[in-house]
Amino acid sequence: MPNDDIASPHRTVIDAWRTRVQRFPDNPAIAYFDTVLTAREVDDASDALAAALSDTGVARGDRVGIYLQNIPQYAITFLALWKIGAVALLLNPMYRGRELRAIVDDAQPVGIFCGEHDVDATTETLRGSTVRFTISTSALDFQTRNDPRVFRSTTRLTPPVDDLVELIRRNHGRRPADPQLDGDDLALLAYTSGTTGPPKGALNSHANALATALDFGDRAGLVDGDVVFAIAPLFHITGAMLNAAVALVRDCLLVFANRFDAAVSLEAFVEHRVTYTIGSITVFNAISAHPDAAATHFESVKALYSGGAPIPPATVQAFEARFGHYIHNAYGMTETTAGVIAVPPGTRAPVDATSGSLSVGLPLPRVRLRTVDPAGEPTATGVAGELEISGPQVVSGYWRNPEASDSTMPDGRLRTGDVAIIDEQGWVYLVDRLKDQINVSGYKVWPREVEDVLYEHPAVFEVAVVGCPDDYQGEAVVAYVALRPGATVAEEELVDFTRERLAAYKRPRTVRVIEELPKTPTGKIMRAELRR
Ligand code: AMP
Repeated sequence: MPNDDIASPHRTVIDAWRTRVQRFPDNPAIAYFDTVLTAREVDDASDALAAALSDTGVARGDRVGIYLQNIPQYAITFLALWKIGAVALLLNPMYRGRELRAIVDDAQPVGIFCGEHDVDATTETLRGSTVRFTISTSALDFQTRNDPRVFRSTTRLTPPVDDLVELIRRNHGRRPADPQLDGDDLALLAYTSGTTGPPKGALNSHANALATALDFGDRAGLVDGDVVFAIAPLFHITGAMLNAAVALVRDCLLVFANRFDAAVSLEAFVEHRVTYTIGSITVFNAISAHPDAAATHFESVKALYSGGAPIPPATVQAFEARFGHYIHNAYGMTETTAGVIAVPPGTRAPVDATSGSLSVGLPLPRVRLRTVDPAGEPTATGVAGELEISGPQVVSGYWRNPEASDSTMPDGRLRTGDVAIIDEQGWVYLVDRLKDQINVSGYKVWPREVEDVLYEHPAVFEVAVVGCPDDYQGEAVVAYVALRPGATVAEEELVDFTRERLAAYKRPRTVRVIEELPKTPTGKIMRAELRR
């Protein structure tokens, strides 16, 4: 879709940020425990960092990895990279070495930002890769409270690489040259687990990011003066867009609290008078489970949203009964630059009588939806079919992967792999999934990746990984394994085997050793059978 379709005078997120800084330079932009930075301070810091990155040779279109938790430096780094036209490569800090290396080898970033504690392991993992520089940072910067609940250590390290805050200090007052970006320039490269093949990098352009930041923010009712709590991790598209970008393009305060902790989050709601946030339903479950949680924690809230994973209607009801706030559902994908379907504030999502599925909402204004049958023909209103999405938020394709781009986004329409019903009023209900993906608290797990790791164990003959319903996380990873003739191994040993090789959320909750995996007559493993 053309950029001029965007109902905004801006072409990029950074244009919108600059207008905000001009209009409200002295208003608070970032809060982190006991510290608040104004828009001007954040702008100056990101200018200084951008100038330093330019000196290092980072140029328009270069990828730079961000391997950080939710700390103010994340937003400052976004702004700095975008100011020089560089692309933020989102890296989950839970990744183990091989997962990080696989993405770095594909995306080929020129540098990486990481936490001070991760420098040694990261440097080791990335030896011989395209990464020329590492900039480390401490979660203890930009605050003085040193809360042990969310900091790995309360003392600073001196890593043997450049320190982000020191770079900002040294370059204070400098401004980078304007690369004159347009909407097609990439803002983010965000990896998503695929049904086949290795993870794919979705090409999230500035036009995509701006469309999401403006339209989703409007849908959620965000206005100048709102306080947005970055509760979802910024390394996932939901956090990057629906927490950070929506706040940066408006005169909103963006609140960080490092890695998620329920008690710390409850305090942050009160301390910063949070008005909006979006997180996975697991985050709301964790908050509800906290013994001190009370309605008073949410007194300043205008709207709560949850996205990324199915929400049981009973969870929403129980949360509202206890805390007086309805959780609004939102749906999106990495390939739609986050939420494109959402429940308007003040509205209660209907529940589909047949499937019991809580509606994910109504499409945002510029989003077009349709459902299609296996032959690709549109299904009638109320009849289930694969959900297809088009609109200014949908990416043009995947990083250096034309085959995947052609098969997933034919003619600019994104095939989601989700089966949906759209009713007469336009409410969308997800009723099934065509893709072989497991959804653990909103984190997507590709069964093949877990299977590949288990196949490396000498006792394993065959393995199939499936998702099983789980009250807390939505789904849990379960592996079924058949052993080589004569081999013996404890199930726990196989779980341990994955520990060193996979991020925590991908590790099987259980490994079940069985005699033989169920197969079709043509020898294909019957996952559906195992799931049952
Ligand atoms: P990701 O690319 O990690 O954002 O994952 C996108 C996938 O998450 C979608 O294709 C859906 O399967 C799932 N998803 C996203 N939002 C929701 C939601 N509100 N309810 C159910 N599933 C969701």
